[in-house]
Amino acid sequence: MRDDFLSGLNPEQLAAVTLPHESALILAGAGSGKTRVLTTRIAWLVDSGLASPFGLMAVTFTNKAAREMLTRLTAMLPINTRGMWVGTFHGLCNRLLRAHHRECGLPAAFQILDMQDQLALIKRVMRALNVDEERTPPRQVQQFINSQKESGIRASACESYDPQTRRYIDVYGEYEQQCQREGVVDFAELLLRAYELLSRNAMLREHYQQRFRHILVDEFQDTNRLQYQWLKLLGGPDTAMFVVGDDDQSIYAFRGANVGNMRDFEREFRIGKVIRLEQNYRSFGNILDAANALIENNEGRLGKQLWTAAGPGEPVRVFEALTDQDEAHFIVEEVRQLHREGTALADMAVLYRSNAQSRLLEHQLFAAGVPYRVYGGLRFFERQEIKHALAYLRLTANRDDDGAWLRVVNFPARGIGARTLEAVQVAAREGGLSLWASCCSRPPGGAAANKLAVFVRLIDELSAEIAELPLPEKIDALLDRSGLRDYYRAEKDGEERLENLEELVNAAQNFQYEVEGGTVEDFLAHASLESGELQAEVAQDALQLMTVHSAKGLEFDAVWVCGLEEGLFPHENSLSAHDGIGEERRLMYVAITRARKRLYLTLATQRQLYGQTRYNLASRFLREIPEPLTQWLNRRPPSSANHGGYAAPRVQTGAAVYAGTQDLQGFRIGQSVKHGRFGQGVIVAAEGSGDDARVQVNFPEAGVKWLLLSYARLEAC
Ligand code: ATP
Ligand code: MG
Repeated sequence: MRDDFLSGLNPEQLAAVTLPHESALILAGAGSGKTRVLTTRIAWLVDSGLASPFGLMAVTFTNKAAREMLTRLTAMLPINTRGMWVGTFHGLCNRLLRAHHRECGLPAAFQILDMQDQLALIKRVMRALNVDEERTPPRQVQQFINSQKESGIRASACESYDPQTRRYIDVYGEYEQQCQREGVVDFAELLLRAYELLSRNAMLREHYQQRFRHILVDEFQDTNRLQYQWLKLLGGPDTAMFVVGDDDQSIYAFRGANVGNMRDFEREFRIGKVIRLEQNYRSFGNILDAANALIENNEGRLGKQLWTAAGPGEPVRVFEALTDQDEAHFIVEEVRQLHREGTALADMAVLYRSNAQSRLLEHQLFAAGVPYRVYGGLRFFERQEIKHALAYLRLTANRDDDGAWLRVVNFPARGIGARTLEAVQVAAREGGLSLWASCCSRPPGGAAANKLAVFVRLIDELSAEIAELPLPEKIDALLDRSGLRDYYRAEKDGEERLENLEELVNAAQNFQYEVEGGTVEDFLAHASLESGELQAEVAQDALQLMTVHSAKGLEFDAVWVCGLEEGLFPHENSLSAHDGIGEERRLMYVAITRARKRLYLTLATQRQLYGQTRYNLASRFLREIPEPLTQWLNRRPPSSANHGGYAAPRVQTGAAVYAGTQDLQGFRIGQSVKHGRFGQGVIVAAEGSGDDARVQVNFPEAGVKWLLLSYARLEAC
């Protein structure tokens, strides 16, 4: 048995899997088998009797990764892996808090707020405090609160003399209290509470320290400070910490992740020798070389080289489209071609930097009848209709959940007006009560009272009716009783929403199957923590669409990385951030290294995004990939001589400039022109002809842009 899963490992991997009981750090590049080593070590520990399945904890980055780990373990071990502590930081903290909700001051049925719910609650608090949303944008307050929590700082411990920051702190304080009143916690709170629970309660801490003799962490480079502190609390004197990561794949600095944790870990856990894995088993040589060359442009790396025995494979294909429509069209056609040639759709992925890019792709995939699945984006559980249904479920479990109350008290409409709601909120605030409690104990007068009473009765009756039903039937019943089904049935475009509601019943069914004895609270927690992965269960073979961030740790036979343009990837927001370009480059490294056999890099000169037409230069990352590794499908590569600063003008000369023979609608290279938005500039290059003719103009104000002559309305000057 043991030989089965150990055979095939290379000597370094085998040594790592079978390390004695001590803490270890594996620092290795993409595709070198870190996750495989970590999973195999769990199997080896359990199989050789060195750990019980419940005496270890493994932390992964996504629910998908956690599930995959459990599936692999099930294949390696003849045990039921269901109760094992394998999950994400959030998932594991949630589990800890549920088990000890009393000790940490939470109701048994505490609910988790996702980012949307959190923002809504912050807005409510701001309104109650009369804080102006224009001057103090709620999203910034949200960021402030989350980053304070991630640094382990409660509102009471925040200090500032700056009036704006003081305002943030006031909202933070009131928000904390409101969450406590409602019995809800946000994502950052899950971690902070779990941390505080263990740091304040020595008995509990020792219990877990003795229990978990092994703690294994994947993607360690992306842990933030608080997560690391939490891990340190859980690890006792006899706990072996097994940590794997890759500094080149650190892509969450913007959320507080800290690569420095790797250095700290090495020091604090007295790691004698960092283990390195250098053979890549995932990708062919050209893909790997492209990734290696790209990441070499970053500074301050811990440094490592990857090699593969797989041979060079195909060149990296680059396609430059004129418009984003053409780019999407190209991708869809290639996907279909590969599919015809025998690659399963699920083994292909299109990766993009920003969620907004998926819409056009989805549109064209839909039109072409190619099944696809979007990860991230608007998650299944974040859809309006699903939130409404879950709000009813939440209220049946916890009447004090104000967020849920507000969401459905007048949905479907019951004639409860904004003024009534306002009055209830004021009364609740004054009485220090939840909206529900306030409504019951001091209802507003007049006709409104009757309408509110109808709602109260509905929830009470609904709770009683579904109390004894299994979870999927509970949901099925509440969809009818609440009027949600009828509402969406009557709505003009409600069909998809109805389907989603039916899908929710399926989701509950699957959940019951997966989590034996799962309660309503468990399901609701799952809904908040899950990232839309449930749809995978029902979808047939489907192309995978996701942001590069969500592709972490995954692999596919063929990968398209699209939108490779300055401003999009690297993202324009990164320019002002510390090490922003470095982080974007690591993101690009992650993207490239997802591909096993075939990699496409695509870009469009002209793109419609966020309601604007943008004309972008090719991404600098394209220039950082050595030309011999690539095959430009429709154009010659950009000159690699132009390394360097942002938006460095890419002035093409010689053969690339066809101006002499080309119809440029009367314009010529070197000519001064004027554009309605960008002002005056000089034409520095040109391409194409007829309707497709475009020129590159250097605008002193706006930078260098490619413009389609037929659209740009340039004037000679
Ligand atoms: P990432 O940094 O992207 O998370 P990783 O280092 O975790 O990558 P894995 O996902 O564990 O890498 O492994 C990459 C691929 O290589 C997987 O398909 C894995 O099964 C395969 N692999 C790893 N080690 C070996 C080996 N010794 N022999 C054959 N295949 C291997
Ligand atoms: Mg991995």
